[in-house]
Amino acid sequence: MTEQTTKTVPAPGSQATESFSVSKLKCYLRCPAVYYYRYVLGLHAPPTSNMMLGSAVHAAIEHNYRKKLESGKDLPLTDVKEFFTANFNYSKGQVLWEPGEVPGKVMDEGVRMLELYHTESAPKIMPTLVEQVFQVRFENCRIVFKGVIDLVTDGSLIVDHKTSGRTPTAESIDKDLQATAYSLGLRYMRKTIETGIAFDYIIRCKQPKIVRFETSRTQADIDNFLKLLGQVMTSVQAGIFYPNSTGQFCSAKMCQFWDECVGGRKFNYAPTR
Ligand code: SF4
Repeated sequence: MTEQTTKTVPAPGSQATESFSVSKLKCYLRCPAVYYYRYVLGLHAPPTSNMMLGSAVHAAIEHNYRKKLESGKDLPLTDVKEFFTANFNYSKGQVLWEPGEVPGKVMDEGVRMLELYHTESAPKIMPTLVEQVFQVRFENCRIVFKGVIDLVTDGSLIVDHKTSGRTPTAESIDKDLQATAYSLGLRYMRKTIETGIAFDYIIRCKQPKIVRFETSRTQADIDNFLKLLGQVMTSVQAGIFYPNSTGQFCSAKMCQFWDECVGGRKFNYAPTR
């Protein structure tokens, strides 16, 4: 795998050794205090049932495409469902179940979502790359920007799979930093410019549905992304963490570190320099 270095923004003389990802970038932008709890202190809350369901559906989709990469054919639906249920049953003990949630019912929902995806979407996709890891290195900086692209089709379309209880807006997809990171990663690692980026959303509701959003990124978008990435990585290295208590995710329901922070009132980190 060939790697290049790129003349981008991160601070000259940076001494960090860690890797950075688009998840870390989005986390910092959402609330730097969340970043501090999660990535500096290493605190982790148990996954919700929604998170575990999404991971299990994603793993089953990935399993099918890995096999399809070799054979050119989708697996039988029963194989994919078996893979999903085994994964679900293995993971369900780690979940923080809400009162009233019934694991069996959640699993059935996942099976219906997967059935829909496997019969409606999978036959239209021929993968050439599955779970493609990328690493972007920068001059004068030991931080490596890493990521994984779900899938690239034979038509050079980047495809990402999501599960969600709500259908996102097209505007949010057009601004999504993950799409820009994928575009950067593919261009950097494979010297290929994608034909577009598709997000296949499997919507979790009574009657699950699949909604595809397509977007694109230009070199200017990537350059702006790299500037932002550099600014955030520099802030992290400088130890700049503060609570974004006015953000839309700052609530007992939405923030996994609410008990530690209470909307910024208990956040007491102070930079040492
Ligand atoms: S409670 Fe609010 S300010 Fe504190 S970490 Fe969570 S989102 Fe950030």
